[in-house]
Amino acid sequence: MGEIDLIFYVPPVLFSIVTLAFVLLWQMKITPAWQWSAGFAQTAAGFVVSTFLTEPYSAAFASGLIFIGAAYCYGSGLLVHFNAPRLRIPRVLFAAAYSVVLTYIVFVEQSLVQQLFLTDVGFALLLGVAVLIVTRRASRPIDIALVVTSSIVVLDSLTRAVFFTFFTNSSDDFGDFATSLYNLEVSVSTITVCMFFPFTALGASASAAIERHRAAAETDELTGLLNRRGFKQALERDFNTGGLSGSLLVCDIDHFKRINDTFGHAVGDTVIAGLAEEIRGLVAGRGSAARYGGEEFMAFLPNVSLQEAVALAELLRVSFANRDWHQDELNRNVTTSCGVSAVRDGETTLDSAIDRADCALYAAKSAGRNRVMAEITRAADLRDSRNLPVLAQSIDTTRNGAAA
Ligand code: GH3
Ligand code: MG
Ligand code: MG
Repeated sequence: MGEIDLIFYVPPVLFSIVTLAFVLLWQMKITPAWQWSAGFAQTAAGFVVSTFLTEPYSAAFASGLIFIGAAYCYGSGLLVHFNAPRLRIPRVLFAAAYSVVLTYIVFVEQSLVQQLFLTDVGFALLLGVAVLIVTRRASRPIDIALVVTSSIVVLDSLTRAVFFTFFTNSSDDFGDFATSLYNLEVSVSTITVCMFFPFTALGASASAAIERHRAAAETDELTGLLNRRGFKQALERDFNTGGLSGSLLVCDIDHFKRINDTFGHAVGDTVIAGLAEEIRGLVAGRGSAARYGGEEFMAFLPNVSLQEAVALAELLRVSFANRDWHQDELNRNVTTSCGVSAVRDGETTLDSAIDRADCALYAAKSAGRNRVMAEITRAADLRDSRNLPVLAQSIDTTRNGAAA
């Protein structure tokens, strides 16, 4: 074999390596990775079959089918990655219609030029539709890169189809394919511009997987709120963007052990999820909330004053106390106590604010539960009771006079 022939080995080898990388990601249970593995494996196989299979009709037919299979899988990889509708039926119907036309061109028309045109255009359309669907969903840089590189693959295929069909006098004989200029151009464009596509697919899949795992590691399974670690991360992000200012809420369900003991752990879990729902509603778009311990929750509300936070906590307390649990086989109301504090000037972490909110919570529990207490902020507050932000809500607002 001459030196030029070596180039035909490069695409299948490169695509086999990329396939292996995706198989590894697939093994690690990274969802859309199998579609990418199948797409790149088929591309590698398509190159081997089209160049090295000696029976020309079988080579043309098999590679024509394999490449459309690859386009289908790439499209699926994109649609799954961007969480877009899969459009299985129209895409399968398109591939089926393509296969019928391919059979006719290879075995009836016996035209290499027509077969290459059909395969390039079919490939570009099947992949192009998926690219068009996902384009507006890409926002992270790696996702935008994936859309750009897959668009390049589509344009490369279309340009080749037009150029070799209408602007060159290519041989129409299947036997000439392996040594054709077309075959050389495919290999060269594949290992140059098109090679960015598998690597961006790899990067986008890996970064999406890391993101998913990070989100899972920072989320509490029972409530869907942040866990302690996620809360810390979210606060760091808040502080990096807006500085440290705002209020902190700590809530703990009253006499929760009794609920567990009387109604069982599963009912206890439902109650925890119920308070989480209230807290999520309270914080929505305003800050970060976490399940900080068993039945203890914490919320940080950036740029919210202590007084506003107390008012919000009071709304939460009343709403939770009035929840109807009958559907959950719990025939009594449940209450929560809350402590509220505000970040003070010069504080660079939330540690002291957490301690102060905890103290306020402890005070709320000691004062009889089912109430919101705020930290005492200034000596002046102690002197002037009208400014005192310490609220001892002892009014029972629950339907059944609940707090056990
Ligand atoms: P207090 O009013 O003083 O808060 O009394 P309490 O009974 O609620 O006391 P505490 O807050 O210490 O109760 C915590 C209980 O929460 C102890 C533990 O059995 C229960 N717990 C912790 N995690 C879970 C959980 O995930 N599910 C359920 N069902 N119970 C939990
Ligand atoms: Mg409790
Ligand atoms: Mg507790």
